[in-house]
Amino acid sequence: MSIPQINHFINGEIVSPVKGNYGEVHNPATGEVIAHYAKGTSEDVDLAVKAARAAYNNPEWRNMPVDDRVALLHKIAGRIKQHFMELCQLEVMSSGGTISRVTSVDMPGSLMLCNAYAEMIKNYTFIEDKPVQSFPEPMHVQTLKEPLGVCGFITPWNVPLMLFLVKCIPAIATGNTVVVKPSELTPHTTLKFAEITADLLPPGVINVVNGTGPDVGEAITTHHDVNKIAFTGSTAVGKHIFANCAQTMKRVSLELGGKSPAIVMPDADIDRTAYGLIYGIMNNAGQICLSGSRALVPEALHDPLVERLVEVAAQLKVGDPFDPQTSYGPMSTPQHGEKVMGFIERAKADGAIVACGGNRMTIEGYEGGFFVEPTVLTHVTNDMDVSCNEIFGPVLSVLKYKDVEEAITIANDTKYGLGGGIWTEDVVAAQQVARRMETGMVWINDWHFARLDTPLGGYKESGYGREMGVMGLENFLETKTIFTSFERQSHKKAMTYGAVHKKFG
Ligand code: NAD
Repeated sequence: MSIPQINHFINGEIVSPVKGNYGEVHNPATGEVIAHYAKGTSEDVDLAVKAARAAYNNPEWRNMPVDDRVALLHKIAGRIKQHFMELCQLEVMSSGGTISRVTSVDMPGSLMLCNAYAEMIKNYTFIEDKPVQSFPEPMHVQTLKEPLGVCGFITPWNVPLMLFLVKCIPAIATGNTVVVKPSELTPHTTLKFAEITADLLPPGVINVVNGTGPDVGEAITTHHDVNKIAFTGSTAVGKHIFANCAQTMKRVSLELGGKSPAIVMPDADIDRTAYGLIYGIMNNAGQICLSGSRALVPEALHDPLVERLVEVAAQLKVGDPFDPQTSYGPMSTPQHGEKVMGFIERAKADGAIVACGGNRMTIEGYEGGFFVEPTVLTHVTNDMDVSCNEIFGPVLSVLKYKDVEEAITIANDTKYGLGGGIWTEDVVAAQQVARRMETGMVWINDWHFARLDTPLGGYKESGYGREMGVMGLENFLETKTIFTSFERQSHKKAMTYGAVHKKFG
């Protein structure tokens, strides 16, 4: 069977890379090559930005009435629905996310996102008339919300389509145009989306340039004619992109890494907390920015909770992402798997004890994939490498605390600030703790929950700005104020003109 090519999509057409180079895309569960992606360069980015700029200036797109945009977004949702299973299968095959999660959360979420933004723009105030004031003179004043222009997106491999659409849909809902570079590990669904919506959009509105970060990502984030960058990925790359964007003052939003703490309160129900903590960290093998990787546990609950965590972890099924019974699949790449194992080894050297897991697993029929056992580490302190840095693997660290004050201090003692959680029977006390956590999201007795109408993003080095909800829409809007004077006789403007004009007529 021939291996498919994943090319670029520029100005409404599938095109080969200017320099003709391709790289391999692997199925992370088996290691086999499943596609060759176009290895783009700055020349491809230039073509895409030119197409996006022309599309932005196209009056058909710029002046599209809101009602038409609403209808367009619903039609896009319809296309996702029509290609639902194909998109899910491509997503699972390239990212290693489980079919159960992709079909029940990612893909329904993606199409709901289109409908949610369609509803949002119906009622959004794009033009606001301000009340007339007499000082310094009556004047007609309007505040406009306008598109930013050409928006560059750079997305990661863990939830590829949804993390693209959470940027793309509000961007096009507000009249911007897009150049996106998906992760070179997972280029399938972004290109597929561009293809299945091609006839709905004027050419150039969505452009996909495949390739690596240093080649294509760098060219997008340094391009003089790109107005905005929306990035999801690691904090290290996010910082580099932030610095690039400063050169031309591009608008920036960054969704970055996390080291999210779960505070187990002294009254927590052991069984419910164990299920919640394991869900919070093991979902997608811990390869989610929001993963709850640090469990902060009071001394009195420590031993029974760890015992239950080990029992619950033992129930998980690791392996084939296409099996609906699978809890989680492979690490994204063997290199990433080795990195996760390195964290576990260093934690042991630092004094952590492996309560369960801690090893690479071999799955029959999937020997080419890198799977890691559900791992729970105890005797972890907050100054260890395993507590300070994002692992992005199925590794839960358990840290003891003496009182809730100390738990809050440990929770906040990190450079990250993405998610946080509280496990308790006392939701009133939890509200107080939630207010003191330095994180963009706090769950009380849950994890990973997100709504399309609520903002998602991080404090501190977990990001800059928010996606989703109205803030997600406003990520793609610039504000302009237009003042119109009614006064046609210059001398009647003496209160303002008088600063300069000492005589009239
Ligand atoms: P990554 O930072 O390695 O790569 C992300 C993207 O950036 C990829 O497309 C990559 O090719 C590109 N890139 C790499 N170097 C670049 C450069 N110099 N210039 C421009 N682009 C460049 O991250 P990843 O491994 O793909 O994803 C995992 C990371 O993403 C984790 O840190 C995770 O926490 C984070 N993440 C955050 C969120 C969130 O919403 N906060 C969501 C998902 C993932």
